[in-house]
Amino acid sequence: MSLQEAFEKTKKELTVTPEKLNEITNHFVSELNKGLSKTGGNIPMIPGWVLSYPTGDETGEYLAIDLGGTNLRVVRVTLLGNSKFTYESEKYAIPGPMRTGKSEDLWNFIADSLDDFVKIQYGSAKLNSKLPLGFTFSYPASQNAINEGILQRWTKGFDIENVEGHDVVPLLQKAIDSKNTPVEVVALINDTTGTLVASKYCDPSTIMGLIFGTGCNGAYYDICKDIPKLEGKLPNDILNDDSPMAINCEYGAFDNEWAVLPRTKYDIQIDNESPRPGQQYYEKMIAGYYLGEVLRLILLDYYSQNLIFKNQDIKPLQVPFAMDTSFPSRIEEHSATFVEKLFLDSFNIKTTEEERNIIHDLCLLIGTRSARLSVCGVAAICKKRNYTSGHCASDGSVFNKYPHFKERAHEALNDIFQWNTDPKDYPITLIHAEDGSGVGAAVIACLTEKRLLANKS
Ligand code: BGC
Ligand code: MG
Repeated sequence: MSLQEAFEKTKKELTVTPEKLNEITNHFVSELNKGLSKTGGNIPMIPGWVLSYPTGDETGEYLAIDLGGTNLRVVRVTLLGNSKFTYESEKYAIPGPMRTGKSEDLWNFIADSLDDFVKIQYGSAKLNSKLPLGFTFSYPASQNAINEGILQRWTKGFDIENVEGHDVVPLLQKAIDSKNTPVEVVALINDTTGTLVASKYCDPSTIMGLIFGTGCNGAYYDICKDIPKLEGKLPNDILNDDSPMAINCEYGAFDNEWAVLPRTKYDIQIDNESPRPGQQYYEKMIAGYYLGEVLRLILLDYYSQNLIFKNQDIKPLQVPFAMDTSFPSRIEEHSATFVEKLFLDSFNIKTTEEERNIIHDLCLLIGTRSARLSVCGVAAICKKRNYTSGHCASDGSVFNKYPHFKERAHEALNDIFQWNTDPKDYPITLIHAEDGSGVGAAVIACLTEKRLLANKS
């Protein structure tokens, strides 16, 4: 086989036809419903305990923290009403080894960063009461209340022992209290739920909050009476009316039973070699944590057949995750000539013109596959909720940085819904989200306070 022939074969495997998009989306709808049923399914569909829509009139001052894959962000948000807000924030780099280190080290690191931030923001002035904090925790966590989050499992390469199966709120609160920082964790929020609510605070036509980043996921509002598994968990008057409930789908776990996804041998290898095999099948094909790895595995496969980088030592490329998503994303953005310098500088590998063109085209295929598969979750939520128009608030490194992601996603939505109008007239669109982990966490903390007050009176 020639390199060109091998590429043509890969191209076929990475191409998702409109028929396949529809097949996946239809299966997705039934899996979303299964997740809401009493017996449950692969997609967790976690009620987020946000029981109202923001109006834009919420006001108050809140702290928020966002534990992401690479950074911890601490934010002080002032909601001004009228869909307006101001905020100040600080980033703290999460030390690499902490991702797979000890639980106490993680909570202490967060508490120390928070303490530092509070001192900078409020000085040594004695505060009358504890500052309310919304904790954006971007991992699947079960919630029986807004201020609870039992970690189901780590995703995105995080692997810290003794956290899965535990409620992370008291773990964090204990570390905060040990520093005497005057802060109380009042809400635990998924990043998608934060994105949904922050964007809806500013734009009432928001129908979803989506993250296309290191991981992938979506949140939307369902109606309590359409969520069978809520039975017994809410007073009957709320259960039986049209009360909204934000749902954190955790749809990265879609199709863990592998019924419809067009997984390649590279996707299977990524899963096998991950810390949590058998989980997050959908996420592992489309999210930023994995896109560079797909490219690397394809190149290693070609190399093992002596089709590429002939007679060269490629050790640096044999290191797992040697390429993060910025590799395919930058390669696509620049022309094929960019590849020459990148491979020399990063891996000490020389490339021929043919190889460079093929690597460039592989990145295009990987990015296109990610965008097209990514919208199956979006389309499924629309079908399930009968949304025929609206804004899908979107954030994350892949959405923000991978070239053409948005256009490709819109094209795939059109393949599913057959609008066949000018792309600028598509009724359902992905738009850049408001700051979910800051503003979203603040609005949710505010809605929670209001609800608790209302219950008391
Ligand atoms: C997590 C979700 C999160 C998503 C985006 C996934 O790996 O399970 O909770 O929303 O990444 O950050
Ligand atoms: Mg994030």
